[in-house]
Parts: sequence; structure tokens; C-alpha cells
Amino acid sequence: MGHRITIAGLDATIEAEPGETILDAALRGGVAFPFGCQSGNCGACKVALLSGGIALHPYSDFALEEGERLQGLVLGCRAVPMGDCDVALLESADWEVHPQRDMKCRVVSIDDATHDIRRVRLEILEGGPLVFSAGQYASLAFPGLPPRDYSMANAPGEAILEFHIRLVPGGAVTPFVRERLEAGDELRVRGPMGTASWRKRHAGPILAVAGGSGLAPIKSIVEAALASGARQPVRLYAGARAERDLYLLDHLAALAARHTNLEVVPVLSEPQGPTARRTGFLRDALRADLAGGLEGWKAYLAGPPVMVESCVEVLDELGMRRADCHADAFYTEADRQVMQQAMGR
Ligand SMILES: Cc1cc2nc3c(=O)[nH]c(=O)nc-3n(C[C@H](O)[C@H](O)[C@H](O)COP(=O)(O)OP(=O)(O)OC[C@H]3O[C@@H](n4cnc5c(N)ncnc54)[C@H](O)[C@@H]3O)c2cc1C
Repeated sequence: MGHRITIAGLDATIEAEPGETILDAALRGGVAFPFGCQSGNCGACKVALLSGGIALHPYSDFALEEGERLQGLVLGCRAVPMGDCDVALLESADWEVHPQRDMKCRVVSIDDATHDIRRVRLEILEGGPLVFSAGQYASLAFPGLPPRDYSMANAPGEAILEFHIRLVPGGAVTPFVRERLEAGDELRVRGPMGTASWRKRHAGPILAVAGGSGLAPIKSIVEAALASGARQPVRLYAGARAERDLYLLDHLAALAARHTNLEVVPVLSEPQGPTARRTGFLRDALRADLAGGLEGWKAYLAGPPVMVESCVEVLDELGMRRADCHADAFYTEADRQVMQQAMGR
């Protein structure tokens, strides 16, 4: 016999089969439950368990901290109900859930943002429009290749979707994007996904932190906030190894010239020779600049897992609440293998 699950924030009631996770039951029931990696690593499907018992499959501490677990939070993709239960979306009042789309798209242009990041622009041929919140991502499936997640770099509402795809040597997909993808090629795009999205109603200062191609969702968030008329301080840290890894600086400078509340801080971790730019790790720049306090701030972070996790730790130290910190770590297959081994699977 199945179990009845009510989902506050979505006003939905679903039936879970024995052994089925809450997320699988919700998606099978056509409910727009937020989700991301579906393997207990990203935390996008985190909800509050209001009543009832569940068993949890293994998950990473990054996705669900012990303290959160103790406060009754669970991961929908890992939670198997033991009986009827009630769950609630976190912050259901301030994030939007959009309909899932499965779209056929065509590459309209592809060019180099840096020596190893390709900027890919897509038009939607079938299955759109893609309504999403700035900061969300989609799953891109090129013919014959496994699907991979990439964050939208354009602000919501634009007809052309933009992605920044960094080459990962030895990867299944990015070498293809770098060497063989051409304008006119078609692919499937599924989304939107993720909850590290811009909170429209927040009027306090915005901290936007990007490492490498993490600039994609951060660009989308900053552009969406500024276009909406946001007047609060917006501080954008763009981390890269060396000068040749920085991109979009002219675009961001033009944006900052139009919006004096935007400050852009490029930070180089491995400068090749003397530089006038800020140097060091992003986490150290945050620690040095924000020691004065983060009361009322919200942070958005995206990029390599090590960078995101170390910056989140610093924000934690500086007293920022986890609920004000919205992060997408760009996990790859290698990261997933390491995490699965650490979880004993
Ligand atoms: C939420 C999210 C958003 C993202 N957004 C972006 C974005 O906007 N831009 C961007 O550039 N990237 C983004 N990524 C990362 C992206 O999804 C891919 O992981 C990345 O592009 C690498 O894809 P790939 O297929 O080329 O490499 P993969 O095939 O994933 O391989 C990556 C590395 O792992 C190694 N590897 C593969 N399989 C194994 C295995 N079984 N065991 C050990 N090692 C293995 C490979 O040799 C390679 O070095 C995002 C990731 C997430 C989770």
C-alpha cells in the first residue's frame, strides 16, 4: 500500500509507492517539486518534514548538514516515507517553482569567452518557452552524449538561451562542445532546475560570487536584479586563475557604469606575472572585505565545488545564515564518484 504525502508550498497531495522517494513520487505525479542532482549531493530538493517518518538514503554533508537534519530538514531525492507524511518547501514564499520543459533547441552561435570557456547560444524550436528564475540551470543533452547541467547566463525572459561551458579535459561532453559543436546543431534541453536563484523580494545588499564559468548564473542574477530596478549594493566577485581566464569584464564594466550600485571585483588566484588586480583566493578576499558584517545580505555563489564550499564556510564564519546563502557547486562526474565512494556506495 502506498503512502500519502502532502506538500505545503505546492498545495499538492501525492501517493508514494513503497520504497519510492518523495521526489520520484512528486515527479511521477506531475508535481513541480524543486530538484537538482537527484543523488543527494546538491540540496536543491531540501524540504522540511512536518510530520511522519522517513528513511534517508545516503547523502553528502554539503547537501544536508547535520544541524539541518536535526531541525527536521530532509532531501526529497533521498527520503523514502515509512508512512503518511507532510513536508513543506523551504522559503516557499520567496522562491518560484516553474513548469518543467523538455525542449528541442538549436545552436544559433558558439564563440570563445576565454581559451577554455565556450559561449553557446540556443534558440528553442519546440517545447518552450523556458520560464526560469535567474540563477537556475538546465540539463543539456547533445545527441549521443550523456546529459550535463549548465546554468543559464541570460536574464529570464530573453528569447535566446545563453550558456558558458568550460572545457573539462577527459570529460564526456565538454571536449565535444569545444571541438565539434557548430551553429545549427540540435540538442534537447530539460529544465529549469535548482534553487540557488535570485530572491526578488530581498531588498538588502547582494553578494554575488563566481568562479570561472560560475559567472554564467551570477551574470543572470545580477542582470535580472539590476533590470528590475534594484537599488541596493550589488558586489560581484569574479574569481579566475589568471588574466586569460577572466571574461565579460567589459560587459560588467558597462553595466557598472549604468548602475552605480554595482561593484565588480576580479580576483586572480594564480596571476602569471605582475598584475594590478586583486590576487589570492576568493574566500580570502571575502574574509578580508566583509568582516564588517553581513546583516541583511544575501549571497549567491557558483563555480567549482572547492571554491563554492570554501566561500560558503567563510560566509558561515562571518555570521551569514545558511538560508541567506544560495550556492550551486558545479559538480562533475569525478566529484560524484568521489562523493559516492565517501558515502560507501
Ligand atoms: C548545478 C550545476 C550547474 C552547472 N553549470 C555549469 C555551467 O554553467 N558551466 C560549466 O562549465 N559547467 C557547469 N556545470 C558542470 C557540468 O555539468 C559538467 O559537469 C562539466 O561540464 C563536465 O562535463 P563533461 O561531460 O565534459 O565531463 P565529465 O564526463 O563529467 O567528466 C568530468 C571529469 O571527471 C572524470 N570522470 C568521468 N567519469 C568518471 C568516473 N566514473 N570516475 C572518475 N572520474 C571520472 C573525467 O575524466 C573528467 O576529468 C554545472 C554542474 C552542476 C551540478
